[in-house]
Amino acid sequence: METDEGASAGDHQAQVIVVGAGPAGSATALHLARAGVDVLLLEKGTFPRDKVCGDGLTPRGVQQLVRMGVDIDAPGWMRTKGMRWVCGGRQVHIDWPRSGSHPDFGLTRSRRDFDDILVRQAVAAGARLLLETKATGPLTDRAGRITGVSAVVGADQQPRNYHASVVIAADGASARTALAMGLERDPSRPVATAARRYYRSEARTHDPYLELWADLLCSRTGRDLPGYGWIFPLGDGRVNVGLGALPHRRHGAVDLRATMEQWVTRLPPHWELREENADSPLRSAALPMGFNRRPQYRRGLLLVGDSGGMVSPWSGEGIVQAMEAGEIAAETVALALQRPGGAGREQALHQYASEVNCRWGRYYRLGNTVAELVFARYGYRPLLNRRVMASPTLVHTLARLLTHGTDAPSGDLIDTVVRGLVRMVPAPRRHAGGLGVRRR
Ligand SMILES: Cc1cc2nc3c(=O)[nH]c(=O)nc-3n(C[C@H](O)[C@H](O)[C@H](O)COP(=O)(O)OP(=O)(O)OC[C@H]3O[C@@H](n4cnc5c(N)ncnc54)[C@H](O)[C@@H]3O)c2cc1C
Repeated sequence: METDEGASAGDHQAQVIVVGAGPAGSATALHLARAGVDVLLLEKGTFPRDKVCGDGLTPRGVQQLVRMGVDIDAPGWMRTKGMRWVCGGRQVHIDWPRSGSHPDFGLTRSRRDFDDILVRQAVAAGARLLLETKATGPLTDRAGRITGVSAVVGADQQPRNYHASVVIAADGASARTALAMGLERDPSRPVATAARRYYRSEARTHDPYLELWADLLCSRTGRDLPGYGWIFPLGDGRVNVGLGALPHRRHGAVDLRATMEQWVTRLPPHWELREENADSPLRSAALPMGFNRRPQYRRGLLLVGDSGGMVSPWSGEGIVQAMEAGEIAAETVALALQRPGGAGREQALHQYASEVNCRWGRYYRLGNTVAELVFARYGYRPLLNRRVMASPTLVHTLARLLTHGTDAPSGDLIDTVVRGLVRMVPAPRRHAGGLGVRRR
């Protein structure tokens, strides 16, 4: 970490710096720019570019895209009607609910396009995007408060400093900015890994359901996979096929590649998920879950998306959480900047951690417990047993829990039950450095 006392002329300045232009960074930059804040979005890569992902969005994610003004009627978006869970030789279709404030459809789109669309949207809103600009570390004042970042720019890695009153870490699972500011990962929280590969499959590319397999077995141990497999349609002739898993509680890390090969070879031949139809290599990445890095605000730095371990411990979804947290961060920062610097502004910035904990704290707490006690030991099979699969009410309740499909009163009985269940979970403890959790 570099100590920074006084910016030199020619250094780059903004009210807010956002490090990383994935969904978290683009959403944050867009909402900040809309609020009239001067925001610099630093991205180490260029667009379009790939990101290892399942490319699936639930209705909650669709809602965020609409809030960001993304044209989801444009060509290239594939709409889904719901999920199809496959378990024990049975299938159950769960249509996205029509109740509540979320749309009644989901979307898929490859992250190559998706991230490009989002970053363009942020730029159109007024964010200043700097590509091929890799943040290398925080700049801090004598009190240890972040005042900007150092970076290397372009192919020739020119060193440059950028300065701002507030910095947002949206640099993904590596969380380098947070780590450099002393925000370590909580080792008691789950970190899953997931792998995906694209295949050309005319038979499956227009499937209106996200298909999830809950009864896969680990290649090495023959035990239940502590996770699930997916086949997501992209509507462009391809499907995204993948597996996500926690480390097994007793047997350790899962060999995702071998388990995936075993699974794919037993799928129906007319789905064409064969080597010659593969459209990409198999690639994997970490899923930092359940708020595994806290507090989400400290000394001028806000953590948004994977850098704050915001992937859902229930489902492994992280895009919607990244976009929602980005909007909360932007609102908090825009309000905080209205105050003069010092204690008042600091107090306003702390509200970010309070707000994300207020929205998701109980839900994630319950999810972390279920992940540890059920998913990491027996996978999803116990939840999708014969009785649950046979009961539409139980299946819909489970689906809403897994996808966080409910958090506003809707008058729907299942929503009321799920909300009631989550509210029974004690609110998370106050975390050192935060101002605690507001109750709703
Ligand atoms: C195999 C797999 C499947 C998944 N499937 C789904 C799914 O179907 N649905 C879902 O909702 N979620 C899914 N996820 C989770 C989802 O991909 C992440 O939660 C989401 O991408 C988080 O967004 P983010 O913006 O926080 O981070 P990222 O998407 O990782 O973006 C971080 C950005 O920061 C940039 N960056 C990093 N370091 C620096 C630096 N030093 N300086 C400048 N820029 C930097 C990167 O280049 C990148 O553009 C999946 C994850 C995996 C691994």
